[in-house]
Amino acid sequence: LIEHFCHQHHYLSLEKYDVIRDSEKKCEACILPIRSHDFYNCIECDYFLHEVCANLPRKLDHALHNHPLFIDPYPVYVYKNDDLKCSACFRVSSGFKYKCRESGCNDDEPFQLDINCILIPECFTHQSHAEHPLFISLSYNNNNNNKIICQGCKMGVRGYHLQCTLCEFAICYKCATIPNEICYNFDEHPLSLCYGESGVDDTYWCELCEKILDPTEWFYTNRERCTTIHHECLFGEYVYMKSGHTFNYYHHKVEVISNGSSSRPICPNCHRRSPAPLYFKVYMLDGYATDGCCSFYCIRQGTFDM
Ligand SMILES: [Zn+2]
Ligand SMILES: [Zn+2]
Ligand SMILES: [Zn+2]
Ligand SMILES: [Zn+2]
Ligand SMILES: [Zn+2]
Ligand SMILES: [Zn+2]
Ligand SMILES: [Zn+2]
Ligand SMILES: [Zn+2]
Repeated sequence: LIEHFCHQHHYLSLEKYDVIRDSEKKCEACILPIRSHDFYNCIECDYFLHEVCANLPRKLDHALHNHPLFIDPYPVYVYKNDDLKCSACFRVSSGFKYKCRESGCNDDEPFQLDINCILIPECFTHQSHAEHPLFISLSYNNNNNNKIICQGCKMGVRGYHLQCTLCEFAICYKCATIPNEICYNFDEHPLSLCYGESGVDDTYWCELCEKILDPTEWFYTNRERCTTIHHECLFGEYVYMKSGHTFNYYHHKVEVISNGSSSRPICPNCHRRSPAPLYFKVYMLDGYATDGCCSFYCIRQGTFDM
């Protein structure tokens, strides 16, 4: 048993992963499924950590920031100033974050990194460009100067990126943190990320949103090609939000709800049935709740005026 500074009131025990018992469990730090050999399990409540995530340091120096960053293991309860958002990949997250504590440093937009961006080493090889190593580029690309094109999403990079040491290849943090394998529908064989195919004559369809899928872009598939899914349908904007997390958003209480495959609600704003694994329930000031909001945009548009 260990006592961990992130969960001080209970002891954690190191356990072996069991497919039947543990497949629904998510790590509190990175919000990804456990699925690893050894993980920490709270002996009294539903609190789980990957072994890697439990061993993260309290403080570290990171290439992207001048000041030391300190781990914050607590979910955000009031969402303002983008404080759910990672400064590198721009995904919102309920998980641990590394934050700058220097007073006066980026007060409007605090610098913070989520665990999946922290785990990208300063020099590493990405499977989409296995021939050369990449490094963390220190140049910041703003809207006026996004000449660098990400080879994942094929868009101009906003913010920081990862650059090949030997050629022009560049990739944004959002694309670099899409996992190369992902579990889907309780299948024990994970889907793998395909980095685009050329010369395909067949039409591919996404199994989740049922729209056409461009095979020259990244997508998830299995070896037999029976399943093809847009990577953003399986690993989307809100993949690091944890179901059950509640927070205040412009004075409204918002709860993250997991989207069961049988009962996907229709979003009250855009009227789509979201394929995402999560949606948001908004508790209105008059006591009513609006269910099924698919995004922060739809929360704002559909339930109250900004
Ligand atoms: Zn983790
Ligand atoms: Zn506990
Ligand atoms: Zn990130
Ligand atoms: Zn700072
Ligand atoms: Zn990208
Ligand atoms: Zn290269
Ligand atoms: Zn799709
Ligand atoms: Zn919507």
